[in-house]
Amino acid sequence: MAVKSFKGGANVPHFKSFTDDKEIEKMPTPDRVVIPMHQSFGDPCEPLVKVGDRVEVGQKIGDSSEFFSAPIHSSVNGVVEEIEVLPYCTGEDAKSIIIRVEGEDQEFKPTIKRNPEDMTREEIIEAIHQAGIVGMGGASFPTHINVNTKEPVEYLVLNGAECEPFLTCDHRTMVERADELVAGARILSSVIGARKCLIGIEVNKPDAIEALEERTKDDDLFEIVPLAVKYPQGFKSIMIKSTTGKDVRRGARSAEVGCIVRNVGTTVAVYEAVVYGKPLIERVVTVSGPTIPKPGNFMIKIGTPVGHIFDHCGVTDFNDATVILGGPMTGRAQHSMKAPIIKNSTGALLLPSEIVRASEPHENCVRCGKCVARCPMRLYPNQLSMLAEVEDYEGLEAWNVMDCMECGICVYSCPSNRPILEFIRHAKPIIKKMELARRGN
Ligand code: SF4
Ligand code: SF4
Repeated sequence: MAVKSFKGGANVPHFKSFTDDKEIEKMPTPDRVVIPMHQSFGDPCEPLVKVGDRVEVGQKIGDSSEFFSAPIHSSVNGVVEEIEVLPYCTGEDAKSIIIRVEGEDQEFKPTIKRNPEDMTREEIIEAIHQAGIVGMGGASFPTHINVNTKEPVEYLVLNGAECEPFLTCDHRTMVERADELVAGARILSSVIGARKCLIGIEVNKPDAIEALEERTKDDDLFEIVPLAVKYPQGFKSIMIKSTTGKDVRRGARSAEVGCIVRNVGTTVAVYEAVVYGKPLIERVVTVSGPTIPKPGNFMIKIGTPVGHIFDHCGVTDFNDATVILGGPMTGRAQHSMKAPIIKNSTGALLLPSEIVRASEPHENCVRCGKCVARCPMRLYPNQLSMLAEVEDYEGLEAWNVMDCMECGICVYSCPSNRPILEFIRHAKPIIKKMELARRGN
């Protein structure tokens, strides 16, 4: 079995054994859900409901007339209790709809069953759009825009790397939902005109490789690509390089090198949207951490507060641990138990201080070069962090800060605990505004 890899990156501790053998369970519905109106790359949605309105599971409750956006749906039956601006999840303020749950039955009931082979390309893309499907592995790019390519694209690359420590939701999805995943991959391949669907999986998931090899062995469309266990294997440009050997040049879109990359969870969501008209109202989330009595992989409704999740998993003592939504390398620390699961929440982690170094003070750069050696984008994270510290945005631009894919391996490597990623995330929107101002927007 030829295992593909890439230059840079590092082996990080996995911490996956807490949950990698735990089957996906349904998380009970909370009393209230908090649904932010900004859950995708691009523009936020505006609420389509008002306080006091009754809403149903799967009902569209937010939308935008802007191009870069994806609609948002209610994950529960209930009544809109409040609409307020809350600083949840992403670190930015977002208008959020708080729904009080009413009724015992909170399941989505499909009223249609479509055969994708009887649908036109436009009808499939519209079904994906109306279901609010976005990239569920982190980037949240609206899928209907991503797959609406002008020309056929050679490769559909399915991202099953799941290289971040602790996370096992994609692993379990590949093992337990292999049929839907393969069906979703066929739909996406037909939409983009792909000649080949490459499924990249790190070799620490042999059961996922086996399940997908079994389902695809008689179909030439598919090829399973075993990948080295190395962080950040699952980032888009790395995944393209590892699976196809192609380089995505700086600033280019993956379609320009003949590839569209989709996360495995997103691909299952596409299948459900196209066949059953199911909107993205729930997702598989890994709930993990060394002190959680009952960690696991759970199907959780969008908008479920982390407090409800940890309560269900038996956590009674938070003991100064840090709550993170997403993975430990790229996720965000949360400061409220009301912070909800959103469309790209891969994990809800509770990490003790010996794992999270963010609270320790940082020191000056000692020029050890570890961050430079490991940066998969061949940037100089040491230089970027120093420029960001003195707010030299022109300098940051010149040193290509916008090429940073926010993998965090530089932070992990840094003996001075420099918050390089925090600096970069702070600087990027400012540089983006500078760029727009230069173009007269
Ligand atoms: S600078 Fe960006 S891309 Fe490079 S290692 Fe740091 S976070 Fe990753
Ligand atoms: S790893 Fe930290 S200390 Fe070493 S060069 Fe990079 S920023 Fe400086």
